[in-house]
Formats: sequence, structure tokens, C-alpha cells
Amino acid sequence: MAKLYFRYGAMGSSKTANAIMVQYNYHERGQNALMIKPRLDSRDGERIVGSRSGLSAPCVYMEEIDGIDLSVYNCIIVDEAQFLTKAQVARLVDIADNSNIPVICYGLRADFQGNLFEGSTWLMAWADTIEEIKTVCWCGRKATCNARVIDGKVAREGEQIVLGGNESYVALCRRHWARGELAPIEVKKISTGKRAYLSLLLEADPSEAMIDNYLDRSEMYVLAAKGKPVSEAVIGEPEPGVFELYNLATERSERGKGYAKRLLNHLIRMYRPLGKRLRVGTSADMMEFYEKFGFRHVGTRKDFFLNENYDPKLFDDPGLRDMEVLELEW
Ligand SMILES: [Zn+2]
Repeated sequence: MAKLYFRYGAMGSSKTANAIMVQYNYHERGQNALMIKPRLDSRDGERIVGSRSGLSAPCVYMEEIDGIDLSVYNCIIVDEAQFLTKAQVARLVDIADNSNIPVICYGLRADFQGNLFEGSTWLMAWADTIEEIKTVCWCGRKATCNARVIDGKVAREGEQIVLGGNESYVALCRRHWARGELAPIEVKKISTGKRAYLSLLLEADPSEAMIDNYLDRSEMYVLAAKGKPVSEAVIGEPEPGVFELYNLATERSERGKGYAKRLLNHLIRMYRPLGKRLRVGTSADMMEFYEKFGFRHVGTRKDFFLNENYDPKLFDDPGLRDMEVLELEW
């Protein structure tokens, strides 16, 4: 008796490429393997299976196989098997059992919400052999989840199958799928185009004149989460061996997620071997944030924020006058 196989894997695990290779191997041995896929809608689309790696092969639709003499085939290969109906999986069981033709199905196990597809449900239930085709998340763990990405975000709601939509899919490990993390959090040094981040710089320092004063003679770093810049920091060396953090800000919508903390930790690790101390001038309400890193209050610049570069209306606290100076000794 021939077997029914279900080989499942997440998006990008080369399922279609595998299917095409298996068909090729049959042909090499002088045997016939029929490639089929379920038709997703009533339109008569292309009868082709195509892999991300660029391999493609002609196929017929599952809906058409009753009109085909299957006795000339040594194997049936099904791509996109997650889209099969229960009745179609039953038909494939019948082909394996009663026509004695092995059937190898390739498909996804679960959809973008983690639910089984109809085809994968019945293949999981009835296949003789279930094999996993592995692929990895960006973190290196096995990717088992298929994130639907719309406008750079992991979608949680929507139809199971979207025809002709603008979504894309990314294979993630279960943890990063649950957190919606499509890419690592990374810190980049910005060498050119620092002013592209002006709106973020102004969040921490509302004076463009003051920013101009230190931006070009300082180093700038941007922390990107899921590929999107969310925090920036500007650090300079006003005296040899003394670094000063001139600016540290996070996009308003991204606050409270620890991004500024991660960025500052990154800078401390990076600059500690290069100098004696790190200084920061800030408002009193930010002192606690810095003290957690080991900064100590070393002085107050009286009326600093009353200078001609600052418009008090631009501060979160319009009564802000004094700059508190803190230092982290290395
Ligand atoms: Zn991961």
C-alpha cells in the first residue's frame, strides 16, 4: 500500500523547492510524478508552482484530477496542501490506498494566528508519515510560526486566506511571533544624515540652535526596533577622557519599553574603556533615571534653561530653569 506523506514547514522553509526536486528525481529515474495544487478561487490562474528561490514547475489543479488518468503516475506531489479541503485530503487518502500511488503533500501547518488550516488539519490526522521541514527565525531558533506582516507590523486579526492582499509573511520562532518582533533590536552609529532624526532630537532638547552646537562634533547612535528607529543618543567628548551625553530621546509612542535604557547601556559599555567619566546635563525629573545607572549628582547649572536658546513653552515643565549635572565615574 502506498503512503500519504505530509511534509510541513513555516514560510520560507523551501517546501515548494523540495516538491520540485522530488518531481525532478522521479523524472531522472524515468518515472512520472504529477504536480498538483489546490485552486484558491474560481479564477483560472497560472498552473505553475513557484518557489521563493526561483524554481518553478507546471502543475494541475487538485479540482481537475478526476479528469486525469492517474495510472500513468508513480507519485503525486501536492504543493500548498494547507489549502486542501477535508474532502480533497480524503481523495488523496483514496489515491494512496486504492490506486497504490504515493502522495507527498507540502504545506504550512498553521496560519498567521496559529490555527491549523483545513488541509493541514486532515493531513495531520490521516497522513502515514508526517515530517517537518525546518527553517530558522532571525534569532536562530526554529521558526514554527508564520507572521502576517502589514505595514511593518505583525497582524493579529484578519481572514485566514487573503487573495491578492498587500500582506507578506515572515517565519518566526514562537517567542518572537508572540512578541511581534520581526527583527532584532539593534544600535547603529549614524555618521551622515544626523539631521534626519531632528524631530527625535528635539524631544530631548527643544532648542535647534543648541542641537546644531553639538551635533556635528559628536557621535550619534540610533536604536532600531523591528527595523524602525525608536531611540537616539548623541555623545561627545568636550574634554579629553570626559564624555558627555548631549541628547537621549525615544519616540513618544515607544516609551516605557526600555529602549532608552538599552541604548544608554550600550553606550556605557562602548565608551567606558575610552575615558574617565560620562556626564549628562538634564532636568531634575530625569535624575532618577540616570541614578539607576550609577550616575551621581555633581552640580546644578542655575538658570541654564533660561538662556536665549530656549523657549520655556517648549518644555514639558514650563517652569524648568536649572540643569542638573550628573556624572558616572569609570
Ligand atoms: Zn526568534
